[in-house]
Amino acid sequence: MIPSSGRLLILGAGESGTGTAVLGKKQGYSVVVSDAGKIAERYRDELMQCGAMIEEGGHGPLSKEADLVVKSPGIPDSMPVVRNFFDRGIPVISEIEFASRFTDAKMICITGTNGKTTTTLLTHHLLKKAGLHVGLGGNVGRSFARQVAESDFDHYVLELSSFQLDGCFEFKADIAILTNITPDHLDRYDYQLERYIDSKFRIQRNQGAGDHFIFCADDQLTTGRMNHTATPMQLHPFSIRTSEGMSAWLDHDQLTIQTDNQTFAMSIHELALQGKHNIYNSMAAGIAGRILDIRKEVVRESFTDFENIEHRLEFVTSVHGIDFINDSKATNVNSTWYALESMEKPVIWIAGGVDKGNDYSMLFDLVGSRVKAIVCMGKDNKKIVKAFSGLVPEIIETETAEEAVQAAYRLGKKGDAVLLSPACASFDLFDNYEDRGRRFKAAVRSL
Ligand code: ADP
Repeated sequence: MIPSSGRLLILGAGESGTGTAVLGKKQGYSVVVSDAGKIAERYRDELMQCGAMIEEGGHGPLSKEADLVVKSPGIPDSMPVVRNFFDRGIPVISEIEFASRFTDAKMICITGTNGKTTTTLLTHHLLKKAGLHVGLGGNVGRSFARQVAESDFDHYVLELSSFQLDGCFEFKADIAILTNITPDHLDRYDYQLERYIDSKFRIQRNQGAGDHFIFCADDQLTTGRMNHTATPMQLHPFSIRTSEGMSAWLDHDQLTIQTDNQTFAMSIHELALQGKHNIYNSMAAGIAGRILDIRKEVVRESFTDFENIEHRLEFVTSVHGIDFINDSKATNVNSTWYALESMEKPVIWIAGGVDKGNDYSMLFDLVGSRVKAIVCMGKDNKKIVKAFSGLVPEIIETETAEEAVQAAYRLGKKGDAVLLSPACASFDLFDNYEDRGRRFKAAVRSL
């Protein structure tokens, strides 16, 4: 049971922690916020204004006692400050679990290894266009807790990472979307894939017969688990390989969605988001929309006028007939596979960064057939050079975005595409993937 009053300790004072504090105060808790690092000024001001007690630069005396702990998803369970509460049986939950207690809104929740943000934003766009009063939260935008405190949305579209789901217990998604599962973040799961899968499947926890679970039937790790579990909720599989038993499928170039014997179809060439992975994302969002009875015309319109998102296969510009594409968000091999797969021109591929245990073999076919040169952009490129030597005529090593862009430009000719899709994290050379993408774009624009 989660106490509805008493001392609420919030670990981590970022957007989600601060939002939780605002909501916690409003609900009458005594609120303490503790952060191991320095708290950003705007959050500190806000926390002080709402009357929270603050501790920063380490978890000290204020974080020893609590009736309820809300932990930022970035803090692992193994940290002593968290263990202390686990061992004493004090509930440690996520912002999502906490905030969901204080709203009756319908929850449309998206998780998966890749495609979360795209599917979340597309679903939100769809609901908004349909005139629903809908909030957007989770990993994107303003914190969910803050919105529950300050707004009165009757629908929420939430992007949930596996870390956020790990801190959910009684939370229930009315509509859950699981985009796909491929090995990622295994360091947080003792390198056990099963535990990572368990964590993703927490999105269907507490779902009953009136709820909906939308999932990719082409994804082996998802279907492997589905085949072994009996589930009460309504299932909506989607596939680009088969139509049998599907709620959404591909019929030649027609994306078809069927819910309650009603069929919606549109050509994939009309979709604003191109690439095979985005057909999947559009299917998932479309099924959710149709479950909510959103009119077919609205679904069609939303799919055609959705604006592409920064750092995800984002077209930057064309310089002397060479296209430059920023897919900096591709931080694992699977997402890079989809980026390469969607390329129709010969590719100069900029890759590299912090390798999280990548197995590059799944890229061999695509790289062999579509990539004319690789520009490595990272501190340690040995693994990429070794994996692709022999497959690609030219591999060059660089250490900054500017060098990488210039090298790619020199190697390219009219009709080629330069694709930044690193398959790696960015922390060796950049603050984060956004910083990497922006520096790439700045370098392209100054060519
Ligand atoms: P997430 O929020 O899960 O990280 P994004 O929507 O931000 O996902 O996309 C991240 C990267 O993954 C993009 O660069 C894109 O190329 C790739 N991607 C997007 N959707 C999918 C999908 N359904 N399957 C595989 N890769 C995808």
